[in-house]
Amino acid sequence: MRTAVLEGPGKFVIHDVPTPRPQEGEVLIKVAACGICHSEMPLWDGSFGQYPNRIGHEVSGTIVQLGSGVTHFQVGDRVTIFTDRYGYSEYVSVPGDQVIPIGANTSFTAALGEPIGCVVNGLRRARIGLGDTVVLVGVGFMGLIMLQLARISGAAQIIAVDTRDSALKRAAGMGAHICLNPTEVDVKQAVMDITGGAGADCVIELTGNQAGLDLSTELVRVRGNLVIFGFHTGERRVNMFLWNWHGLDVINAHERAPSAYVEGIRAGMKLLESGSLDMEPLVTHRYPLEQINEAFAVAYARGDDYVKAVIEP
Ligand SMILES: [Zn+2]
Repeated sequence: MRTAVLEGPGKFVIHDVPTPRPQEGEVLIKVAACGICHSEMPLWDGSFGQYPNRIGHEVSGTIVQLGSGVTHFQVGDRVTIFTDRYGYSEYVSVPGDQVIPIGANTSFTAALGEPIGCVVNGLRRARIGLGDTVVLVGVGFMGLIMLQLARISGAAQIIAVDTRDSALKRAAGMGAHICLNPTEVDVKQAVMDITGGAGADCVIELTGNQAGLDLSTELVRVRGNLVIFGFHTGERRVNMFLWNWHGLDVINAHERAPSAYVEGIRAGMKLLESGSLDMEPLVTHRYPLEQINEAFAVAYARGDDYVKAVIEP
């Protein structure tokens, strides 16, 4: 089978390798789509990681073979999986307990299990209440999923914050009530005006950077929830005074236990199938495996028209 091997920064090479044989308890998946993840960019630009490396963890596809002992799936089942590697390949074999079925009305490009499961789990931790004012600081790919889930969780008012007007335009199209660009307006002042000086009930930080964390802290009302969903790869400075003075509930919104991932993905697939979550507008770019270098370059550049790219091996 063909697989893409990241041999160094900016360089995938397509190799021919033996198709994996499903071991006991495993299922072999023919990969239909694998999303390119923002978390893979440090490997692509060489700032972090080891080579050669076979990555790709946002996989959907069809079961083509069952290992011994697998009884709850059949050949031909359409599924998404929880995995941490090998997604940019024609086939991948994973344990059956990391396989989640997808519905008949759900497309493979929509059924990107890992990011959807992450947002479902983050949303569950955020504890949005009926009628809440929710601020999303950062409305890229994950933020736009979170926006949809915040809507169905009962938020009365959703405020999207992003430095990119293109992202805000998409957020407005997906139901954000108010869009604020920190390079153009005083976001703190605007949120205070909107909330009668109180601040927001729940602020979800999705930037992974210091500025986003600082801004998010300032927007939460007294006794509100500050939800840290952004992926922070280093140490951060926090405004402990505001955290204390405003009596904030500061919530880490990341899960790491595999069982939690799988459970979050399972819920996400149901939301997709019911139409409560729409991924189609978010997948803006599609490439065959042979064009994976071009796809990564586009994902890295994150142009105005870019939200998410998938590889279709
Ligand atoms: Zn990912």
